[in-house]
Amino acid sequence: MRFDTIIIGGGLASLVCGIKAQRAGQKCLIVSAGQNALHFSSGTFGLLGRLEDGTEVSEPLKALSFLPKNHPYSKIGVEKVSEYVSGIPEFFDSCGLKLHGSPSSEPEFPRNGFRLTPMGSFMPAWLAMEDVTLLPSKDEINWNKALIVNFRGFLDFNAGFIAEGLEKRGVSCRVETLTIADVESLRSNPTEMRSVGIARIMGKESNWKEFGGKVRDLVNGEDLVIVPAVFGFNQAVVIEWLKEMIPAEVMFVGTMPPSVPGIRAQILLKRTFESAGGTFLAGDTAIDPTFENGLVTGIHTVNLGSISLTADQYVLASGNLFGKGLEATPDTVLEPVFGLDTDFPADRAEWCAPDFFSEQGYASFGVITDDSFRPMRNGAVVDNLFVIGSEVGGCNSLYEGSGAGVAIMTALSVADSIIEGK
Ligand SMILES: Cc1cc2nc3c(=O)[nH]c(=O)nc-3n(C[C@H](O)[C@H](O)[C@H](O)COP(=O)(O)OP(=O)(O)OC[C@H]3O[C@@H](n4cnc5c(N)ncnc54)[C@H](O)[C@@H]3O)c2cc1C
Repeated sequence: MRFDTIIIGGGLASLVCGIKAQRAGQKCLIVSAGQNALHFSSGTFGLLGRLEDGTEVSEPLKALSFLPKNHPYSKIGVEKVSEYVSGIPEFFDSCGLKLHGSPSSEPEFPRNGFRLTPMGSFMPAWLAMEDVTLLPSKDEINWNKALIVNFRGFLDFNAGFIAEGLEKRGVSCRVETLTIADVESLRSNPTEMRSVGIARIMGKESNWKEFGGKVRDLVNGEDLVIVPAVFGFNQAVVIEWLKEMIPAEVMFVGTMPPSVPGIRAQILLKRTFESAGGTFLAGDTAIDPTFENGLVTGIHTVNLGSISLTADQYVLASGNLFGKGLEATPDTVLEPVFGLDTDFPADRAEWCAPDFFSEQGYASFGVITDDSFRPMRNGAVVDNLFVIGSEVGGCNSLYEGSGAGVAIMTALSVADSIIEGK
Protein backbone atom coordinates (compact mmCIF):
# COMPACT_ATOMS: atom_id res chain seq x y z
CA MET A 1 0.00 0.00 0.00
CA ARG A 2 1.42 3.33 -1.05
CA PHE A 3 0.94 6.76 0.55
CA ASP A 4 2.63 10.14 0.25
CA THR A 5 3.26 10.30 3.99
CA ILE A 6 3.07 7.65 6.72
CA ILE A 7 2.83 8.89 10.33
CA ILE A 8 3.51 6.51 13.20
CA GLY A 9 1.57 7.27 16.41
CA GLY A 10 -1.98 8.46 16.97
CA GLY A 11 -1.56 11.32 19.47
CA LEU A 12 -1.79 15.10 19.28
CA ALA A 13 1.41 15.54 17.22
CA SER A 14 0.48 12.89 14.69
CA LEU A 15 -3.07 14.14 14.20
CA VAL A 16 -2.09 17.82 13.82
CA CYS A 17 0.61 16.90 11.29
CA GLY A 18 -1.74 14.51 9.46
CA ILE A 19 -4.60 17.02 9.25
CA LYS A 20 -2.35 19.79 7.92
CA ALA A 21 -0.61 17.56 5.35
CA GLN A 22 -3.81 15.83 4.24
CA ARG A 23 -5.60 19.17 3.78
CA ALA A 24 -2.72 20.30 1.59
CA GLY A 25 -3.27 17.34 -0.75
CA GLN A 26 -0.94 14.73 0.71
CA LYS A 27 -2.26 11.17 0.88
CA CYS A 28 -1.56 10.31 4.54
CA LEU A 29 -1.70 7.18 6.67
CA ILE A 30 -1.59 7.25 10.47
CA VAL A 31 -0.66 4.00 12.22
CA SER A 32 -1.71 4.16 15.87
CA ALA A 33 -0.91 1.46 18.40
CA GLY A 34 -3.24 2.64 21.14
CA GLN A 35 -4.10 5.32 23.65
CA ASN A 36 -2.09 8.51 23.77
CA ALA A 37 -1.38 11.36 26.19
CA LEU A 38 -4.63 13.15 25.26
CA HIS A 39 -6.53 10.38 27.05
CA PHE A 40 -4.75 11.46 30.25
CA SER A 41 -4.54 15.19 29.63
CA SER A 42 -5.78 18.04 31.77
CA GLY A 43 -7.83 19.50 28.92
CA THR A 44 -5.34 22.36 28.65
CA PHE A 45 -2.42 22.96 26.32
CA GLY A 46 0.90 24.16 27.70
CA LEU A 47 3.21 26.29 25.54
CA LEU A 48 5.87 27.25 28.07
CA GLY A 49 5.30 27.66 31.79
CA ARG A 50 8.82 27.58 33.19
CA LEU A 51 12.42 27.97 32.04
CA GLU A 52 15.22 25.53 32.77
CA ASP A 53 16.45 27.62 35.73
CA GLY A 54 12.98 27.51 37.32
CA THR A 55 11.89 31.04 36.27
CA GLU A 56 8.10 31.13 35.86
CA VAL A 57 6.95 32.31 32.44
CA SER A 58 3.84 34.45 32.08
CA GLU A 59 4.16 35.35 28.37
CA PRO A 60 5.56 32.27 26.58
CA LEU A 61 6.45 33.93 23.27
CA LYS A 62 8.57 36.57 25.00
CA ALA A 63 10.53 33.80 26.75
CA LEU A 64 11.36 31.72 23.66
CA SER A 65 14.67 33.51 23.09
CA PHE A 66 15.91 32.24 26.49
CA LEU A 67 15.61 28.60 25.45
CA PRO A 68 18.72 26.57 24.53
CA LYS A 69 19.68 26.15 20.86
CA ASN A 70 18.65 22.50 20.65
CA HIS A 71 15.16 23.13 22.08
CA PRO A 72 12.48 22.26 19.49
CA TYR A 73 11.13 25.85 19.59
CA SER A 74 14.63 27.22 18.90
CA LYS A 75 14.96 24.87 15.92
CA ILE A 76 11.66 26.16 14.48
CA GLY A 77 12.59 29.78 15.25
CA VAL A 78 10.85 32.43 17.36
CA GLU A 79 9.17 34.08 14.36
CA LYS A 80 7.73 30.85 12.99
CA VAL A 81 6.53 29.65 16.41
CA SER A 82 4.79 33.01 16.90
CA GLU A 83 3.12 32.65 13.50
CA TYR A 84 1.92 29.12 14.34
CA VAL A 85 0.69 30.24 17.77
CA SER A 86 -1.54 32.93 16.26
CA GLY A 87 -3.17 30.38 13.94
CA ILE A 88 -3.84 27.70 16.57
CA PRO A 89 -7.35 28.69 17.78
CA GLU A 90 -8.55 28.82 14.15
CA PHE A 91 -6.91 25.49 13.30
CA PHE A 92 -8.57 23.68 16.22
CA ASP A 93 -11.85 25.51 15.64
CA SER A 94 -11.86 24.03 12.13
CA CYS A 95 -11.65 20.60 13.81
CA GLY A 96 -14.65 21.37 16.05
CA LEU A 97 -12.53 22.11 19.09
CA LYS A 98 -13.04 25.50 20.68
CA LEU A 99 -10.03 26.61 22.69
CA HIS A 100 -9.82 29.63 24.92
CA GLY A 101 -6.87 31.39 26.51
CA SER A 102 -6.26 33.89 29.25
CA PRO A 103 -7.03 37.51 28.28
CA SER A 104 -3.98 39.45 27.15
CA SER A 105 -3.66 43.18 26.54
CA GLU A 106 -1.30 42.37 23.65
CA PRO A 107 -3.11 39.64 21.66
CA GLU A 108 0.09 38.79 19.76
CA PHE A 109 1.68 37.80 23.07
CA PRO A 110 -0.65 35.29 24.75
CA ARG A 111 -0.46 35.13 28.53
CA ASN A 112 -0.51 31.91 30.49
CA GLY A 113 -3.67 31.36 32.48
CA PHE A 114 -4.02 28.97 35.41
CA ARG A 115 -6.13 25.87 35.77
CA LEU A 116 -7.20 24.38 39.05
CA THR A 117 -5.84 20.82 39.19
CA PRO A 118 -7.66 17.84 40.76
CA MET A 119 -5.08 18.18 43.57
CA GLY A 120 -6.26 21.71 44.37
CA SER A 121 -3.14 23.47 43.04
CA PHE A 122 -2.84 25.92 40.13
CA MET A 123 -0.87 25.10 36.98
CA PRO A 124 -0.04 27.44 34.10
CA ALA A 125 -1.67 26.77 30.73
CA TRP A 126 -1.72 28.48 27.36
CA LEU A 127 -5.09 27.29 26.01
CA ALA A 128 -7.97 25.32 27.47
CA MET A 129 -10.78 23.28 26.02
CA GLU A 130 -14.32 24.53 26.45
CA ASP A 131 -15.04 22.67 29.66
CA VAL A 132 -11.89 23.72 31.50
CA THR A 133 -11.79 27.07 33.27
CA LEU A 134 -8.63 29.19 33.03
CA LEU A 135 -8.02 31.84 35.67
CA PRO A 136 -5.98 34.93 34.73
CA SER A 137 -3.94 34.66 37.93
CA LYS A 138 -3.25 32.07 40.61
CA ASP A 139 -2.90 34.73 43.29
CA GLU A 140 -5.86 37.04 42.68
CA ILE A 141 -8.84 34.84 43.51
CA ASN A 142 -12.08 36.81 43.40
CA TRP A 143 -14.52 34.33 44.94
CA ASN A 144 -15.61 34.30 48.57
CA LYS A 145 -17.62 31.11 48.82
CA ALA A 146 -17.40 27.95 46.74
CA LEU A 147 -19.70 24.97 46.50
CA ILE A 148 -17.89 21.84 45.30
CA VAL A 149 -20.25 19.16 44.02
CA ASN A 150 -19.29 15.56 43.34
CA PHE A 151 -21.20 12.45 42.35
CA ARG A 152 -21.73 10.10 45.26
CA GLY A 153 -19.11 7.32 45.08
CA PHE A 154 -16.96 8.97 42.37
CA LEU A 155 -13.41 8.57 43.68
CA ASP A 156 -11.52 10.16 40.76
CA PHE A 157 -12.60 13.66 41.76
CA ASN A 158 -11.32 14.58 45.19
CA ALA A 159 -13.40 17.51 46.36
CA GLY A 160 -11.44 17.61 49.65
CA PHE A 161 -8.13 18.39 47.88
CA ILE A 162 -9.78 21.12 45.84
CA ALA A 163 -11.38 22.65 48.94
CA GLU A 164 -8.04 22.60 50.74
CA GLY A 165 -6.33 24.37 47.82
CA LEU A 166 -9.00 27.07 47.64
CA GLU A 167 -9.25 27.58 51.38
CA LYS A 168 -5.52 28.33 51.48
CA ARG A 169 -6.39 31.21 49.16
CA GLY A 170 -9.17 32.50 51.41
CA VAL A 171 -12.19 30.93 49.68
CA SER A 172 -14.61 29.28 52.09
CA CYS A 173 -15.72 25.92 50.66
CA ARG A 174 -18.67 23.59 51.13
CA VAL A 175 -18.57 20.09 49.67
CA GLU A 176 -21.75 18.27 48.65
CA THR A 177 -22.39 14.99 46.88
CA LEU A 178 -25.42 14.13 44.82
CA THR A 179 -26.54 11.36 42.59
CA ILE A 180 -29.01 10.64 39.85
CA ALA A 181 -30.51 7.25 39.07
CA ASP A 182 -28.44 6.40 35.96
CA VAL A 183 -25.13 7.28 37.66
CA GLU A 184 -26.16 5.35 40.75
CA SER A 185 -26.62 2.26 38.59
CA LEU A 186 -22.91 2.50 37.58
CA ARG A 187 -21.89 1.99 41.20
CA SER A 188 -22.85 -1.68 41.15
CA ASN A 189 -19.64 -2.19 39.14
CA PRO A 190 -16.82 -0.02 40.59
CA THR A 191 -14.75 -0.21 37.37
CA GLU A 192 -17.57 1.58 35.54
CA MET A 193 -17.66 4.45 38.03
CA ARG A 194 -15.02 6.35 36.10
CA SER A 195 -15.09 9.72 34.37
CA VAL A 196 -15.88 8.34 30.92
CA GLY A 197 -18.73 6.14 32.22
CA ILE A 198 -20.29 9.13 33.98
CA ALA A 199 -19.68 11.35 30.94
CA ARG A 200 -21.59 8.95 28.70
CA ILE A 201 -24.55 9.03 31.08
CA MET A 202 -24.35 12.79 31.35
CA GLY A 203 -24.64 13.04 27.57
CA LYS A 204 -28.36 12.28 27.93
CA GLU A 205 -30.38 15.49 28.14
CA SER A 206 -32.65 14.35 30.97
CA ASN A 207 -29.56 13.45 33.05
CA TRP A 208 -27.57 16.66 32.71
CA LYS A 209 -30.74 18.67 33.24
CA GLU A 210 -31.46 16.71 36.43
CA PHE A 211 -27.87 17.26 37.58
CA GLY A 212 -28.04 20.99 36.77
CA GLY A 213 -31.35 21.33 38.62
CA LYS A 214 -30.02 19.57 41.72
CA VAL A 215 -26.90 21.75 41.80
CA ARG A 216 -29.03 24.87 41.37
CA ASP A 217 -31.05 23.83 44.42
CA LEU A 218 -27.88 23.27 46.45
CA VAL A 219 -26.48 26.76 45.82
CA ASN A 220 -26.83 28.87 48.96
CA GLY A 221 -25.08 32.18 48.50
CA GLU A 222 -21.95 30.70 46.88
CA ASP A 223 -20.38 32.73 44.07
CA LEU A 224 -18.48 29.73 42.64
CA VAL A 225 -19.67 26.21 41.90
CA ILE A 226 -17.10 23.52 41.04
CA VAL A 227 -18.13 20.28 39.36
CA PRO A 228 -16.09 17.46 37.77
CA ALA A 229 -15.28 17.82 34.05
CA VAL A 230 -17.55 14.99 32.88
CA PHE A 231 -19.95 16.94 30.72
CA GLY A 232 -20.23 17.62 27.01
CA PHE A 233 -18.54 14.37 25.89
CA ASN A 234 -20.55 14.30 22.68
CA GLN A 235 -21.96 17.80 22.67
CA ALA A 236 -19.76 20.51 24.15
CA VAL A 237 -22.67 22.98 24.22
CA VAL A 238 -24.04 21.17 27.32
CA ILE A 239 -21.35 23.01 29.24
CA GLU A 240 -22.83 26.38 28.27
CA TRP A 241 -26.33 25.22 29.15
CA LEU A 242 -25.21 24.09 32.61
CA LYS A 243 -23.51 27.44 33.16
CA GLU A 244 -26.80 29.16 32.39
CA MET A 245 -28.80 26.93 34.75
CA ILE A 246 -26.59 27.36 37.79
CA PRO A 247 -26.80 30.76 39.57
CA ALA A 248 -23.05 31.20 40.24
CA GLU A 249 -19.85 31.03 38.24
CA VAL A 250 -19.40 27.38 37.23
CA MET A 251 -15.94 25.85 37.04
CA PHE A 252 -15.37 22.41 35.53
CA VAL A 253 -12.29 20.82 37.07
CA GLY A 254 -10.46 17.89 35.48
CA THR A 255 -10.77 14.51 37.14
CA MET A 256 -8.12 11.84 37.50
CA PRO A 257 -7.66 10.08 34.10
CA PRO A 258 -9.19 9.15 31.78
CA SER A 259 -9.76 12.72 30.68
CA VAL A 260 -13.15 13.52 29.17
CA PRO A 261 -12.01 16.75 27.42
CA GLY A 262 -8.85 14.99 26.17
CA ILE A 263 -10.78 12.06 24.71
CA ARG A 264 -13.25 14.44 23.06
CA ALA A 265 -10.28 16.28 21.48
CA GLN A 266 -8.81 13.00 20.20
CA ILE A 267 -12.15 11.92 18.69
CA LEU A 268 -12.63 15.29 16.95
CA LEU A 269 -9.08 15.43 15.57
CA LYS A 270 -9.25 11.85 14.28
CA ARG A 271 -12.63 12.59 12.69
CA THR A 272 -11.19 15.71 11.02
CA PHE A 273 -8.22 13.77 9.67
CA GLU A 274 -10.47 11.06 8.24
CA SER A 275 -12.98 13.56 6.80
CA ALA A 276 -10.09 15.22 4.97
CA GLY A 277 -9.42 11.82 3.34
CA GLY A 278 -6.68 10.46 5.61
CA THR A 279 -6.45 6.77 6.54
CA PHE A 280 -6.24 5.95 10.27
CA LEU A 281 -5.06 2.45 11.14
CA ALA A 282 -6.18 2.03 14.76
CA GLY A 283 -4.83 -0.61 17.13
CA ASP A 284 -1.84 -1.51 14.97
CA THR A 285 1.86 -1.17 15.68
CA ALA A 286 4.51 -0.12 13.17
CA ILE A 287 7.48 -2.51 13.09
CA ASP A 288 10.28 -3.72 10.82
CA PRO A 289 11.15 -0.76 8.60
CA THR A 290 13.23 -1.35 5.49
CA PHE A 291 16.15 0.92 4.50
CA GLU A 292 18.08 1.51 1.30
CA ASN A 293 21.00 3.91 1.00
CA GLY A 294 20.13 5.44 4.36
CA LEU A 295 16.51 6.15 3.38
CA VAL A 296 13.38 4.45 4.69
CA THR A 297 11.79 2.41 1.90
CA GLY A 298 8.87 0.86 3.79
CA ILE A 299 7.36 -0.15 7.08
CA HIS A 300 5.35 -3.14 8.29
CA THR A 301 2.73 -3.45 10.98
CA VAL A 302 1.89 -6.23 13.41
CA ASN A 303 -1.60 -6.75 11.94
CA LEU A 304 -0.71 -6.44 8.25
CA GLY A 305 2.17 -8.92 8.48
CA SER A 306 4.21 -9.14 5.30
CA ILE A 307 2.34 -6.32 3.50
CA SER A 308 4.72 -3.39 3.17
CA LEU A 309 3.47 0.18 3.61
CA THR A 310 5.47 2.62 1.54
CA ALA A 311 5.62 6.41 1.24
CA ASP A 312 7.82 9.28 0.15
CA GLN A 313 8.07 10.65 3.68
CA TYR A 314 7.76 9.01 7.09
CA VAL A 315 7.00 10.75 10.39
CA LEU A 316 7.64 9.24 13.80
CA ALA A 317 5.23 10.59 16.46
CA SER A 318 5.39 7.68 18.86
CA GLY A 319 5.47 9.69 22.07
CA ASN A 320 8.46 9.16 24.31
CA LEU A 321 8.56 6.58 27.15
CA PHE A 322 4.88 7.05 27.91
CA GLY A 323 3.73 6.18 24.38
CA LYS A 324 6.37 3.43 24.07
CA GLY A 325 8.19 5.55 21.50
CA LEU A 326 11.29 5.06 23.66
CA GLU A 327 12.36 2.11 25.75
CA ALA A 328 14.74 2.30 28.69
CA THR A 329 16.96 -0.62 29.63
CA PRO A 330 19.21 -0.53 32.73
CA ASP A 331 21.94 1.32 30.85
CA THR A 332 20.56 2.77 27.64
CA VAL A 333 17.52 4.33 25.97
CA LEU A 334 16.34 2.93 22.64
CA GLU A 335 14.00 4.08 19.90
CA PRO A 336 12.41 0.72 19.08
CA VAL A 337 10.94 1.20 15.57
CA PHE A 338 13.79 2.62 13.46
CA GLY A 339 16.70 2.26 15.90
CA LEU A 340 17.32 6.03 15.90
CA ASP A 341 20.00 7.75 17.95
CA THR A 342 18.71 8.99 21.30
CA ASP A 343 19.71 11.70 23.72
CA PHE A 344 19.87 10.81 27.44
CA PRO A 345 22.29 11.41 30.32
CA ALA A 346 25.03 8.78 30.46
CA ASP A 347 24.91 8.81 34.26
CA ARG A 348 21.87 6.77 35.25
CA ALA A 349 21.60 8.68 38.53
CA GLU A 350 20.42 11.67 36.47
CA TRP A 351 17.49 9.75 34.97
CA CYS A 352 15.16 10.39 37.87
CA ALA A 353 15.11 12.54 40.98
CA PRO A 354 13.95 11.16 44.33
CA ASP A 355 11.54 14.11 44.80
CA PHE A 356 8.59 13.21 42.57
CA PHE A 357 7.67 16.86 41.91
CA SER A 358 11.16 18.08 40.96
CA GLU A 359 12.62 18.00 37.43
CA GLN A 360 12.80 14.41 36.23
CA GLY A 361 15.64 13.62 33.80
CA TYR A 362 13.76 10.84 32.01
CA ALA A 363 11.22 13.37 30.75
CA SER A 364 13.90 14.98 28.58
CA PHE A 365 14.95 11.78 26.79
CA GLY A 366 14.30 11.95 23.06
CA VAL A 367 15.49 11.25 19.55
CA ILE A 368 18.38 13.36 18.26
CA THR A 369 17.35 15.41 15.21
CA ASP A 370 18.75 18.13 13.00
CA ASP A 371 17.09 21.56 12.85
CA SER A 372 14.37 20.28 10.49
CA PHE A 373 13.51 17.36 12.84
CA ARG A 374 15.16 14.75 10.64
CA PRO A 375 16.61 12.13 12.98
CA MET A 376 20.06 10.62 13.20
CA ARG A 377 20.58 6.88 12.79
CA ASN A 378 24.07 5.57 13.52
CA GLY A 379 25.27 9.15 13.32
CA ALA A 380 23.80 9.92 9.86
CA VAL A 381 20.68 11.96 9.09
CA VAL A 382 17.75 9.97 7.63
CA ASP A 383 16.52 12.32 4.91
CA ASN A 384 12.97 11.01 4.41
CA LEU A 385 12.09 10.55 8.09
CA PHE A 386 10.95 13.22 10.57
CA VAL A 387 10.36 13.03 14.32
CA ILE A 388 7.69 15.14 16.06
CA GLY A 389 5.97 15.58 19.42
CA SER A 390 7.24 14.28 22.70
CA GLU A 391 9.55 11.84 20.87
CA VAL A 392 11.83 14.78 19.97
CA GLY A 393 14.72 15.41 22.35
CA GLY A 394 16.06 18.76 23.50
CA CYS A 395 13.50 19.73 26.14
CA ASN A 396 11.86 18.58 29.33
CA SER A 397 8.22 19.28 28.52
CA LEU A 398 6.97 17.97 31.82
CA TYR A 399 9.10 20.44 33.77
CA GLU A 400 8.63 23.33 31.33
CA GLY A 401 4.88 22.83 30.87
CA SER A 402 5.38 22.78 27.09
CA GLY A 403 3.95 19.33 26.18
CA ALA A 404 1.13 20.25 23.83
CA GLY A 405 3.04 23.25 22.47
CA VAL A 406 6.02 21.13 21.42
CA ALA A 407 3.68 18.49 19.95
CA ILE A 408 1.73 21.06 17.91
CA MET A 409 4.66 23.27 16.81
CA THR A 410 6.87 20.37 15.67
CA ALA A 411 3.86 18.81 13.89
CA LEU A 412 3.08 22.01 11.99
CA SER A 413 6.72 22.64 11.15
CA VAL A 414 7.22 19.12 9.76
CA ALA A 415 3.90 19.23 7.89
CA ASP A 416 5.13 22.46 6.22
CA SER A 417 8.45 20.83 5.28
CA ILE A 418 6.59 17.89 3.71
CA ILE A 419 4.07 20.11 1.89
CA GLU A 420 6.78 22.45 0.61
CA GLY A 421 8.99 19.47 -0.35
CA LYS A 422 11.88 20.84 1.72
C1 LIG B 1 -0.04 11.33 31.16
C2 LIG B 1 0.29 12.59 30.42
C3 LIG B 1 -0.55 13.70 30.52
C4 LIG B 1 -0.24 14.87 29.82
N1 LIG B 1 -1.07 15.96 29.95
C5 LIG B 1 -0.75 17.09 29.29
C6 LIG B 1 -1.59 18.25 29.40
O1 LIG B 1 -2.61 18.23 30.07
N2 LIG B 1 -1.24 19.38 28.71
C7 LIG B 1 -0.09 19.42 27.96
O2 LIG B 1 0.20 20.46 27.36
N3 LIG B 1 0.70 18.35 27.84
C8 LIG B 1 0.41 17.20 28.49
N4 LIG B 1 1.23 16.10 28.37
C9 LIG B 1 2.42 16.19 27.51
C10 LIG B 1 2.15 15.41 26.20
O3 LIG B 1 3.34 14.75 25.98
C11 LIG B 1 1.77 16.29 25.02
O4 LIG B 1 0.76 17.15 25.39
C12 LIG B 1 1.29 15.58 23.76
O5 LIG B 1 -0.06 15.18 23.90
C13 LIG B 1 2.15 14.44 23.31
O6 LIG B 1 1.66 14.02 22.08
P1 LIG B 1 2.45 13.03 21.13
O7 LIG B 1 1.57 12.85 19.94
O8 LIG B 1 3.83 13.49 20.92
O9 LIG B 1 2.59 11.63 21.94
P2 LIG B 1 1.52 10.66 22.58
O10 LIG B 1 0.28 11.35 22.93
O11 LIG B 1 2.24 9.91 23.66
O12 LIG B 1 1.17 9.63 21.41
C14 LIG B 1 2.05 8.65 20.97
C15 LIG B 1 1.28 7.64 20.16
O13 LIG B 1 2.17 6.78 19.48
C16 LIG B 1 1.69 5.45 19.53
N5 LIG B 1 2.79 4.53 19.21
C17 LIG B 1 3.94 4.31 19.89
N6 LIG B 1 4.69 3.41 19.22
C18 LIG B 1 4.00 3.08 18.10
C19 LIG B 1 4.25 2.19 17.01
N7 LIG B 1 5.36 1.47 16.94
N8 LIG B 1 3.30 2.06 16.04
C20 LIG B 1 2.17 2.78 16.10
N9 LIG B 1 1.88 3.64 17.10
C21 LIG B 1 2.79 3.78 18.09
C22 LIG B 1 1.10 5.38 20.93
O14 LIG B 1 0.21 4.28 21.05
C23 LIG B 1 0.37 6.73 20.98
O15 LIG B 1 -0.88 6.65 20.33
C24 LIG B 1 0.94 14.92 29.03
C25 LIG B 1 1.76 13.80 28.95
C26 LIG B 1 1.45 12.65 29.62
C27 LIG B 1 2.38 11.48 29.49
